Amino acid sequence: MTQEVLNTVIIGSGPAGWTAAIYACRSGLSPVLVSGPEVGGQLTTTPEIGNWPGRKDAPDGFSLMKTLQEHAVSLGTKMLSDTVTKVDFSQEIKEVTLSSGDVLKTKTVIIATGAKARYLGLPSEEIYKGKGISACATCDGFFFRNKEVAVVGGGSAAFVEALYLTNMCKKVYLIHRREGFRSEKVMVDKLRSMVDSGKVEFILNAQITEFKGDGNKLSGVELDVKGQKKELALDGVFVAIGHAPATSIFEGQLELDNGYIKTGFGSDTATSVKGVFAAGDCADMVYRQAITSAGEGCKAALDAEKYLLG
Ligand SMILES: Cc1cc2nc3c(=O)[nH]c(=O)nc-3n(C[C@H](O)[C@H](O)[C@H](O)COP(=O)(O)OP(=O)(O)OC[C@H]3O[C@@H](n4cnc5c(N)ncnc54)[C@H](O)[C@@H]3O)c2cc1C
Repeated sequence: MTQEVLNTVIIGSGPAGWTAAIYACRSGLSPVLVSGPEVGGQLTTTPEIGNWPGRKDAPDGFSLMKTLQEHAVSLGTKMLSDTVTKVDFSQEIKEVTLSSGDVLKTKTVIIATGAKARYLGLPSEEIYKGKGISACATCDGFFFRNKEVAVVGGGSAAFVEALYLTNMCKKVYLIHRREGFRSEKVMVDKLRSMVDSGKVEFILNAQITEFKGDGNKLSGVELDVKGQKKELALDGVFVAIGHAPATSIFEGQLELDNGYIKTGFGSDTATSVKGVFAAGDCADMVYRQAITSAGEGCKAALDAEKYLLG
């Protein structure tokens, strides 16, 4: 029996994946969505989303993503609770292999596999993620208005986060394990200019060795500063040491940039292979927001539809 060739396979069930599915359904593409290991994506771990337009009630991430899933499924999206282990994009009809061993054949693929923030890897960090530890100042900075926070890192991302937080927090510490920074000088100078007023403090040659708190809320950190143990009381810690896109299965198949899928080959979400599109954090090293991912998911479905029309 010949296997059915699908119009569109969507890989990932975060905001990008579900939005792509909603648009693909409405365009009559009958998409199949492979959910991956984390149904709903990164947002499902966060208790409060305060910046999803139209939801001033700030729902928890799990409930919000459930509404996207229900919308996409109600329109006819077929969801497979599986993970993609291999892809072959060398032919016009693409092959997507699942961990079950099944192989999907499809004319187009929309990749929405997301990215993960890198954390320090301390056991106490796991306790306080979402309870004082965050990896996204744009997402969570608002919850730390007039509070004392630290940003960990020495690259551009850390300086962007720190500068953003100075707009709302009482004090921002920048904790970095070295003396020098990998960020642009202009951003370093801007943050430094706030040191004299006491708004900003640099703690250099320092590493967090322990996150402290009562188990429900972070209260500070223990530091190793040039071999000396120190304690610092804090309301929040923003870890800004980079992100890792979930794109290893696409290596050798698509052009990547630092692990992020390169797009813009003819349309916004088109990758280096015709018929393969990418949306959301897996292709975005700049914005990394739920709403921008959803927007890219919309674009990817429209781009796939246009490709199929020829
Ligand atoms: C704690 C936390 C709080 C946040 N808070 C906010 C916020 O308040 N507001 C905001 O706008 N943004 C927030 N963000 C950022 C936001 O979650 C991301 O920008 C957004 O989820 C990215 O969406 P995405 O669809 O690109 O990918 P993700 O949400 O990362 O989803 C990726 C999907 O791909 C799947 N997948 C991965 N690999 C495979 C594979 N091999 N096969 C099949 N499927 C696969 C996963 O299972 C998952 O379903 C937060 C992030 C975190 C971690």
